[in-house]
Amino acid sequence: MTAAIEIESLDVWFGDGPDRTDAVKSVSFTVPVGESFGLVGESGSGKSTVLRAITGLVPTWSGGIRVQGRPLGRKRDKAFYKSTQMVFQDPYASLHPRMTVDQVLSEALHLHGFREIDSRIDTLLRDVGLGPGYRFRYPHQLSGGQRQRVAIARALAPEPKILLLDEPTSALDVSVQAEILNLLTDLRTERHLTYVMVSHDLGVVGHMCGQVAVMQHGEVVEELGVADMRELKASHPYTRHLLDSSLRSVR
Ligand code: ADP
Ligand code: MG
Repeated sequence: MTAAIEIESLDVWFGDGPDRTDAVKSVSFTVPVGESFGLVGESGSGKSTVLRAITGLVPTWSGGIRVQGRPLGRKRDKAFYKSTQMVFQDPYASLHPRMTVDQVLSEALHLHGFREIDSRIDTLLRDVGLGPGYRFRYPHQLSGGQRQRVAIARALAPEPKILLLDEPTSALDVSVQAEILNLLTDLRTERHLTYVMVSHDLGVVGHMCGQVAVMQHGEVVEELGVADMRELKASHPYTRHLLDSSLRSVR
């Protein structure tokens, strides 16, 4: 079966000459259809840049990116955004302050040519655990968790196959994080979605993902299954360091 995502020797850089930053260096990984793949590593290791390269948000990259078997070029077309959607870390920044939930969702639905906007909005809201009472609210009338639910509903609007999740819970209160992670887990099962999930938190990735790539300084230093991660079978010293520090934080 064709993989959902194949990344091959991906390089991403910003700037030129002495100002050049090599944010992603020769990164390769494959995400089978229906899997949840984690990218972990500390801040600045290049995780977001990998997702941004896939969604076409970085100008300079080389290597191969294939989504559902299709090699991606410079531009992303509407068909790409129908299949692949991104959810960002900070739902406050990613929602327009002067658009109601209704406007956000109807814009996304119109863009992808859907009809029966009304009933689709109702369904989307219900699917992310928000009742119809939230439909005409503005972002500032929602809690952080509710805003992230709206951002997830917007991502689901085109009925995508793949969600790229960039630290989707790290801007939220700890008490709300688990709710959103559980919602994402349920949605993946119900909708047969494929996830690539970025996190600096091994606990989150261990809960959500079957396979994990560990990034450091722009490179993937190790890829391991979540069972090995739980049994602390990491071989790279950096992965062991991450595991040690995340264990300390739960103790
Ligand atoms: P992470 O998501 O793992 O925290 P990022 O992918 O955001 O890391 O960043 C990786 C590296 O690329 C960092 O050194 C960061 O400063 C740099 N970087 C990211 N975006 C840009 C940009 N638009 N311009 C210049 N440098 C950038
Ligand atoms: Mg990031």
